[in-house]
Amino acid sequence: MKDTFKHKGLRQQLVTVLIAKGIEDEAVLKAIGNIPRHLFMDSSFLDHAYQDKAFPIAADQTISQPYTVAFQTELLQVKKGDKILEIGTGSGYQAAVLCELDAKVYSIERQQELFKKTSKFLPKLGYRPKKLIFGDGYKGLKEEAPFDSIIVTAGAPFIPKPLLSQLKIGGRLVIPVGGDVQVMTLIIRKGVKEFEKHELGDFRFVPLLEDKN
Ligand code: SAH
Repeated sequence: MKDTFKHKGLRQQLVTVLIAKGIEDEAVLKAIGNIPRHLFMDSSFLDHAYQDKAFPIAADQTISQPYTVAFQTELLQVKKGDKILEIGTGSGYQAAVLCELDAKVYSIERQQELFKKTSKFLPKLGYRPKKLIFGDGYKGLKEEAPFDSIIVTAGAPFIPKPLLSQLKIGGRLVIPVGGDVQVMTLIIRKGVKEFEKHELGDFRFVPLLEDKN
């Protein structure tokens, strides 16, 4: 597990690419500049770790494209100490970004292999989410609700109701919604029954699947 000057240099180039693509949040850019993304990927992909691309990880899943991670994180408007639920832990990269922003991170993964691997891996890098859960993200995490924000990192065919009800008033849900192509959707909870919806362009994620394997 090495992080060299070469990796650091490549990371700064990646940050420059993200700025050129429109990412503005300094804290998000700093987090991406700090996190050794190459360590979240299988070794055969090491050379590609700092390209702005998604890549395969274990269990037929992917580590999201850095631009997508930055775009979704920016939409959350994370403040220090925010309680955030992530659906789709995967490699743990997005969770690491949220930890860098000093959020209290809860993250759910339905693939046991990834859940185990990432649970061991994140603390080795010094990232300590409050809780990693092996379970079904469609249900959210009722026992820890309400959340300041919820981020879904897999393509959802529809917006799961429990995620809406587990948001604080003023809280934000960022979720890609659709089939083969998904529309990035930001929901802001304005009142107990009042939700504001913003649609922010097309993305492609692996699907949010029902029930754990
Ligand atoms: N945030 C991850 C992205 C992983 S890809 C990262 O930074 O690497 C999406 C992840 O969502 C996959 O690991 C997949 O197994 C998981 N997933 C799919 N359906 C799910 C569900 N219903 N509940 C929880 N996780 C789910």
